[in-house]
Amino acid sequence: MGADSYRVGATRLRDALVVLGAVTGPCGFCGHPDQRHRVADAITERVLAGEDAETVGWDYWDREDSRAEVYALELTVAVLAADPRRHGITRGKAAAIDREVWADL
Ligand SMILES: [Zn+2]
Repeated sequence: MGADSYRVGATRLRDALVVLGAVTGPCGFCGHPDQRHRVADAITERVLAGEDAETVGWDYWDREDSRAEVYALELTVAVLAADPRRHGITRGKAAAIDREVWADL
């Protein structure tokens, strides 16, 4: 637990977000370096609320895409793994690590 494990989680999230397309820039709401996090957060909230992951995935990927459910579940795991509270670090420290992790994109 701590900064090192958070960095692993943030890197996992960065890599998982590729299923949502190319990086389009920072989030205008919270300053996160990757605005795709908002879509991943929305998917995660729905999956954690008990919605069927395949149904959630179909809102973002083609119904014919058999990977839609896997994408939704992978994003959910990645979002949870990149939650600073799970690593016992502050949001400020997490934001600094996020900037480093996303710096090379
Ligand atoms: Zn944001």
